[in-house]
Amino acid sequence: MNFLSTRGSREKYSASAAIIKGLADDGGLFVPEHFPKFDISFNELKTISYPALAGKILSLFLDFTPEEIALCVNSAYSPLGGFEADPAPLTKRGGAYFLELFHGRTLAFKDMALSVLPYLTQISAKKHAAGKEIAVLTATSGDTGKAALAGFAGVNGVKIIVFYPKDGVSDVQRLQMTTQEGENAFVAAVDGNFDDAQRGVKAVFSDRELNRRLNERGIILTSANSINAGRLLPQIAYYYYAYAQMLRTGEISEGEKISFCVPTGNFGNILAAYYAKQMGLPVDTLYCASNSNKVLYDFFTENEYDANRELYLTASPSMDILVSSNVERFLFHSIGAYAAKAAMDSLAKTGKYGVKLNERELIPCFSDEAETFSAIKEMFDKSGFAMDTHTAVAYAGLKKVSHGEKNVIVSTASAYKFADHVVSAISGEKTRGADAINRLAELTEGKQPIPASLAGLDQKEILHKTVVGANGIKEYVESTLTFNE
Ligand SMILES: *Cc1c(COP(=O)(O)O)cnc(C)c1O
Repeated sequence: MNFLSTRGSREKYSASAAIIKGLADDGGLFVPEHFPKFDISFNELKTISYPALAGKILSLFLDFTPEEIALCVNSAYSPLGGFEADPAPLTKRGGAYFLELFHGRTLAFKDMALSVLPYLTQISAKKHAAGKEIAVLTATSGDTGKAALAGFAGVNGVKIIVFYPKDGVSDVQRLQMTTQEGENAFVAAVDGNFDDAQRGVKAVFSDRELNRRLNERGIILTSANSINAGRLLPQIAYYYYAYAQMLRTGEISEGEKISFCVPTGNFGNILAAYYAKQMGLPVDTLYCASNSNKVLYDFFTENEYDANRELYLTASPSMDILVSSNVERFLFHSIGAYAAKAAMDSLAKTGKYGVKLNERELIPCFSDEAETFSAIKEMFDKSGFAMDTHTAVAYAGLKKVSHGEKNVIVSTASAYKFADHVVSAISGEKTRGADAINRLAELTEGKQPIPASLAGLDQKEILHKTVVGANGIKEYVESTLTFNE
């Protein structure tokens, strides 16, 4: 399988080269040249384990040996990678199906890809950058940062640098990052929002002079953001796995279509669902759910993407994004490289672009803060289950637009990551930090125990206190990577 740039340059890359480069030289994102068909019988699908399924799907894309792929998936989707039990269980609560993707070590769906990305990176580095030091740069809206830190901390030959928006993450998210141990882990707050952080990191990648200086010192930059194909590809597996569980429990018959509703920010998660559909998974509708930052909702209803608007800080911070990177991949697949490049040029110049999407491949929906909070309360009253705020955005948004097919809501985080908001939605109480976590445990009466990884979080030493201006990202990266040499 070859990978191409979304912006139309002719070069072709192997998956391993794409994973190490992160971003194409023309600024585009790497995409597979075509969608492979995933041939698996319903019988096999019903019984296959998560690592085996993920391995089969990855083997359609990666230039890795079967042994290399087995090493990646068996290490990632196991206690070693932070998964003690089933990595992606499907549950039915209050009449709705949830694909729970928050059972990894940082309690958000980012673990599904970021537990395996370090292995993909190391093996790819062996093929393309032997003897070099890999620097993984990451901008985070809250969850990617910790998941990347947890995955890459302590990995030999790798440094990981994370930038998060200073006032744009939850208390738990901030503490998870600022207490990260490991000599090779660096975390800085950015005085700005997520879009500022993401723009700053992208600017580092496209600064040729800086990259040349770093290369001379044997340092290669790569990304753990969902612009990296190595983030996207591992996410396809759980859509198949959701289908497998619906089959296994008799909720659907073989070949029956299901729909997914995905709470969306940078468009990586839902893009993986789109890939699964293109590869043959029986999918009816993909619902793209936004919070009050509903730039994607407006885009899919009006065919105009307009990032020129105020960014709201919501209770679902991992979706507080106006410039949604992976939309570029979707444009490439639906309207081609030429039009995708024109759209991205326009976005860079004017903050907006108009396109004609051929068909409605996705149905957008959104829910504002009040609707999200009522949804949490409604589901809790009905079933005793506390949804996190992002999952609740999807649940509430879907209710407004669903046409009654079998819908799976993609549940992207543990309610404990946003415990203050969840408690407030359920009981109206104002709590913070450890109090919010303890209160949520009381409210859920032992049915959702406090995840072990949160125990004692507020007692840990804060190891990372750096704050940089949005324009200081480049300088911070260079000085961090070349310090001590
Ligand atoms: C990152 C994240 C999202 C958004 O996912 P994208 O792939 O960026 O669309 C939604 N919910 C949670 C909890 C997240 O961490």
